[in-house]
Amino acid sequence: MGSKGKEIVKMDINKLIDELNRAFADEWLAYYQYWIGAKVVKGPMKEAVIAELIQHAGDELRHAGMLTGRIIQLGGTPILKPEDWYKMTNCGYDAPEDPSVKVILEQNIKGERCAIDGYNRLLEATRDKDPVTYNIALQILQDEIEHEEDLQSLLEDVGEMMKRR
Ligand code: FE
Ligand code: FE
Ligand code: MG
Repeated sequence: MGSKGKEIVKMDINKLIDELNRAFADEWLAYYQYWIGAKVVKGPMKEAVIAELIQHAGDELRHAGMLTGRIIQLGGTPILKPEDWYKMTNCGYDAPEDPSVKVILEQNIKGERCAIDGYNRLLEATRDKDPVTYNIALQILQDEIEHEEDLQSLLEDVGEMMKRR
């Protein structure tokens, strides 16, 4: 990283890179959870759910790109082996073993809530210390809040539909 760019980061850069890699692992696992969920999901409103899952998968992959860009800028190494995603993750991975829309939506809502907590912590840690990482965390947090809301309202719609049958 450029020396001046590094100088203005007022926090432990190695610790920051570690946190960014943890979030990076979460994003890859979230990406795959959405992507494979969209393939296997079954039940009411399936088409609408698939469209939302695919859109969110794309967002998570974009988030992984934003994080890795910053990791490299800070002189760090992004996680190089998928097996390390499991070692580094904060939010884990819920396999869609039950493919019902309700269960898949609930699993992904749980993941989004964990992501919201994680990016909120990253915001608090970088506030007034690293404006560039702060800005990235804020952009991602806004997406994760939208994701949670989208999934929650889909889950409500699915619930209404099942009541009427
Ligand atoms: Fe994300
Ligand atoms: Fe998300
Ligand atoms: Mg959405």
